[in-house]
Amino acid sequence: MSAFAKPHAVRLPLPDLSRWADSATGVPWAHELLAAEPGPDVLLTALVHGNEYSGAIALDAFLRSGLRPRRGRVTAVFCNIAAFNRFDPLQPDASRFVDEDFNRVWGTESLDGPRDSQELHRARAIRPFVERATHLLDLHSMHEPCPPLMVTGMLARNIAFARALGTGAQIVADTGHADGVRMRDYGGYGDARDCRIALLLEAGQHWDPASLLSARDVLMRFLVAAGSLESGDVPPGWLLADAVPPEPLLVTHRVVARSMDFSFVDDFHGGETMGPAGTVIAHDGGAPVRTPYAGCILVMPSLRQLRPGVTTVRLGRRLSGPGGQSTTSLLEQACHQFGAD
Ligand SMILES: [Zn+2]
Repeated sequence: MSAFAKPHAVRLPLPDLSRWADSATGVPWAHELLAAEPGPDVLLTALVHGNEYSGAIALDAFLRSGLRPRRGRVTAVFCNIAAFNRFDPLQPDASRFVDEDFNRVWGTESLDGPRDSQELHRARAIRPFVERATHLLDLHSMHEPCPPLMVTGMLARNIAFARALGTGAQIVADTGHADGVRMRDYGGYGDARDCRIALLLEAGQHWDPASLLSARDVLMRFLVAAGSLESGDVPPGWLLADAVPPEPLLVTHRVVARSMDFSFVDDFHGGETMGPAGTVIAHDGGAPVRTPYAGCILVMPSLRQLRPGVTTVRLGRRLSGPGGQSTTSLLEQACHQFGAD
């Protein structure tokens, strides 16, 4: 697989989001719907990465549907509009961000620090919505064609919430990135003593129409599971069939590129199970990259953002233990055994 692979075809029409620029919240492209009854404070986010707009189409459809929460508040935010506005179908991989990855700036040292960028500026504007929410659903998509993934972080409450949604999306439990904090891991979302829910959906390939169907399905299921809506409120045709997800995957390792001379040994798409420990999966600067244990499963392999320090693939194993073992104890055991990063 070449480091400079041709972009995938853009098969999803670019949405016109201009109607959401002005907002009564005072923050452009951020809208809130309030119910009379108290309830969950749900935050729905799209366009954290500017070229991942299937979630933005789903969010736009939700806002235009006239649906109102029955309880609590729903806030919908189109995050990195500056990057989205630069989207060019001839260079669709180029508008992921303007200055830096919006999903790596959520450490308080970055948010409160003196540094500035388009992404930090926007993150600081959105931060109050992120801080007040009890439930966060962050809608993303993937570089390479792959069935939907639900990225939960390492907390059992998020894995349980994701499982209860009834989608077939593969749950991926992971610890985030060494090069910066994701929005879904900010503050209480990543705290075991807190009770907030945060899920990140990778809906499918960025510009595959199936990615929109998955984003819309999960968005509606999330609102029902949080208690904002009743299942009967969901417009006809917006839900996909109920499905039992495969056993969750625990990300135990990340393969980080050391050089620009990085290539996989095969055209991996994610979900492949490798053989014995030591199986070569890639070469980096001429050196083989080997699996650390038998049966490693590849998660989101991609070289589209290749540069030294970038994650090229995650390695995982299934979180399936003998009957009766709780997800929490499995997570603890797995972290201990495999030294999850
Ligand atoms: Zn993304």
